[in-house]
Formats: sequence, C-alpha cells, structure tokens
Amino acid sequence: MEKRVCLECGEEILGRSDKKFCDDQCRNAYNNKMRSGDDHLIKHINAILKKNRKILAALNPGGKTKAHKDKLLTKGYDFKYHTHTYVTKENARYVFCYDYGYLALDNDWYLLIRNDKENNV
Ligand SMILES: [Zn+2]
Repeated sequence: MEKRVCLECGEEILGRSDKKFCDDQCRNAYNNKMRSGDDHLIKHINAILKKNRKILAALNPGGKTKAHKDKLLTKGYDFKYHTHTYVTKENARYVFCYDYGYLALDNDWYLLIRNDKENNV
C-alpha cells in the first residue's frame, strides 16, 4: 500500500484513505497558504496590467498615436499581460489593457488606440 503523507507537514497519514492532512490544523495552515499565494499572484498580475495601462495612457494622451516598441519597453511595458484582444474583420488583432490598446505594425511600431466605449471596440 502506498504511504500517504500530509500535504502540510509531510507526516505519514494514518486512517481513512481519502485524508490529505493529519488534522484540521494542518488543513487550515495549508489552505491559508494556498489562498495567500493566489492573492499574491492576482495582485502581482493586476499591478502589471495597471502599469501597462498607465504606460499606454501616458504615451497616448490623444487617443490615437504611434509608438515604437523600444519606447514601450523602456517605460517597463510587459507584453505578456493584457486584458483582452479584438480581431477585426480584416484580421487585425488589437491587444488591450482595459480601455487602452495597441495594434502591432511593421518594424516594431505600434498603433496605440483607446476604446472608451464599453463592448464596442
Ligand atoms: Zn500534518
């Protein structure tokens, strides 16, 4: 029979085969850790998204402009994170951080746009 260990403390678990923790204390400690880990991850990603939006907003005060990739990267833009995308009928893929977005152009240039109307890109 396989030896089962507590997910929290690593001690061997005795008794029912579906048990994952040796007691409630270990279960609670483990769940709290998982929860705060999730919170941290969400906060981290939210912070990146907000920073991205701030950068797009700062570079695009008029609502439509062009910017080079280097400029975005210098400001600390993180291209990994965005809130949503929109693909036009012409197959142009806009990437958004909230209401600000961009469209990749040739030679690392980006068309920055703003969509202030919800659900209507
Ligand atoms: Zn335990």
